[in-house]
Amino acid sequence: MADVPSWAGEEDAPFWQGVACGELRVQSCARCRRLRFPPRPFCPLCCSPESAWQPMSGRGTLWSYVIVHPPLVAPFAELAPYNVIVVALEEDPAIRMVGNLLAEPHGPINKVKPDQIRIGARVKAVFSEGPGGLRLPRWIYE
Ligand SMILES: [Zn+2]
Repeated sequence: MADVPSWAGEEDAPFWQGVACGELRVQSCARCRRLRFPPRPFCPLCCSPESAWQPMSGRGTLWSYVIVHPPLVAPFAELAPYNVIVVALEEDPAIRMVGNLLAEPHGPINKVKPDQIRIGARVKAVFSEGPGGLRLPRWIYE
């Protein structure tokens, strides 16, 4: 399917289909409704193999971050230093997603300075192109 990376598998294709249309999706258990990410074939709570994908609000809390420095592979080396953040989702703070904090929705990944990053701040997902044209979920301050 278009917009799904060639390396994506059956388990994570629905996530990437959501990203392609600007929607953050998380897998949920069809039996107990527990959300889980990254996707897995069985629920870690009740072991059910049945699942569905739920759209999330795209909101969360900045839980942690690092500032990345070289050595890095191309094309990331030329962008360093830049941030990589961990976001706890609003719907279930135990679910954490990794991405970049941007100054503006389609801005570069290296414009937010380290002293501007605030753990505990509210963030929301945006969708922008990464290296190779792959659309990725990223984050901005709410
Ligand atoms: Zn379950």
